[in-house]
Amino acid sequence: CGIVGYIGQNDTNEVLLNGLEKLEYRGYDSAGIATLNDDGLNLFKVKGRIAVLREKVDKNVKATMGIGHTRWATHGEPSEDNAHPHQSASGRFTLVHNGVIENYYELRDEYLNDVALVSETDTEIVVQLMEILFNKYNDVAEAFRQTVALLKGSYAIALIDAENQETIYVAKNKSPLLVGLGDGFNLVASDAMATLRETDRYLEINDKEIVIVNRDFVEIQKLDGAAVEREPFTAEIDA
Ligand code: GLU
Repeated sequence: CGIVGYIGQNDTNEVLLNGLEKLEYRGYDSAGIATLNDDGLNLFKVKGRIAVLREKVDKNVKATMGIGHTRWATHGEPSEDNAHPHQSASGRFTLVHNGVIENYYELRDEYLNDVALVSETDTEIVVQLMEILFNKYNDVAEAFRQTVALLKGSYAIALIDAENQETIYVAKNKSPLLVGLGDGFNLVASDAMATLRETDRYLEINDKEIVIVNRDFVEIQKLDGAAVEREPFTAEIDA
């Protein structure tokens, strides 16, 4: 299972699909991508191979930012509905996740009684919770920190906001995720191997940090919002 996210100038479909292909070795049962452009959100998901996803993605829909996912099902059978990315009720927030949210029943019962869930995944709880907390705080970064602070378990998460083509929100705990740095673009990936074609400069993310990945800059924060400084490393390219 794996995650790729990209925000830049290149053809996002290609960066995401290529990256997901490079992550195939990790195993998966379904895959999907979501991209944002001036017309809104474009979502493509399949049960099965990335090759099938590649066929399904409308190449005429151009975008310069988006997120992609390969799923290894833990909660809910492999199916198109359970494939990521998942969306919040209004469609505003879209999210991919690797790992297991251990307290998803509790979160559902406490916060989501009025929300009609469309999948059987632990992941959907996170994106629905994000929307509930956004309605409370009216600030996307704050709602994201508050959402992540409530999660127990393992997660690598990338989230996009349909009203902002400049930012990918990232969180990590006990599941792998890196931020890749480029000139005029930035990206996220479970493994640097997925995106070495784009960049060899990466930032490590520690557990329980969140990262605000913008087109031109990256900001690592603790869950209380305090900024964290970190130097990038250079990923080795395998011959
Ligand atoms: N627990 C999530 C699901 O079953 C994510 C699984 C994964 O790591 O791909 O959908």
